[in-house]
Amino acid sequence: MSEAAGRLVIVSGPSGVGKSTLVQRLLHEHPELAFSVSCTTRARRPGEVEGVHYRFVDRATFQEMAARGAFLEHAEYNGNGYGTPLEPIHAWVAQGRRVILEIEVQGARQLKDKQSALGLPMRFVFILPPSKEQLAARIQRRGTEDEAKRLSRLKIAERELEQAAWFDVRIVNENLEDAYAQLVCAVRGGGG
Ligand code: 5GP
Repeated sequence: MSEAAGRLVIVSGPSGVGKSTLVQRLLHEHPELAFSVSCTTRARRPGEVEGVHYRFVDRATFQEMAARGAFLEHAEYNGNGYGTPLEPIHAWVAQGRRVILEIEVQGARQLKDKQSALGLPMRFVFILPPSKEQLAARIQRRGTEDEAKRLSRLKIAERELEQAAWFDVRIVNENLEDAYAQLVCAVRGGGG
């Protein structure tokens, strides 16, 4: 992926839609892409590595970072804080790199609203489930959380789906290979 200049590619969509699987494969197959490692206050899940999947921070640190403007965007999601550290982003874009942000929909909207003020080229990609029923089943199967958290993720997901319309590119994750090919195309600059 060498064409065109640096930019942010924001990959968003509801929890359980398969964003992480798609993004992990993208990073594995395209090591020239930069990945923005978010900060979060949520507990580390088994298999997650500090500094690779997230930077796990306590609430006080998160609030302090937010207060001093250390995040490009940040949002509360299902009782935890999530934020994109500002620090490496401008340098990566200036180097001509594509930077992948995997974030939820409120954070994507914040970036959309301040895109021109930030002066960073951005492309917004929304990953959709084939149906609401399939999304519910996926969140249920994931089983990393208790029932109440799963239900609230599902409620949030239903609201998030309503936001798909304003994104530059929408990808339905029905078949992983097809969805992946469309994501590669979107990162390259097509698909919208
Ligand atoms: P999870 O807890 O499942 O890892 O993530 C919950 C949601 O937060 C997912 O939709 C994920 O994409 C999103 N997320 C991860 N990092 C960030 C971030 O830096 N900012 C925002 N706004 N959302 C994030």
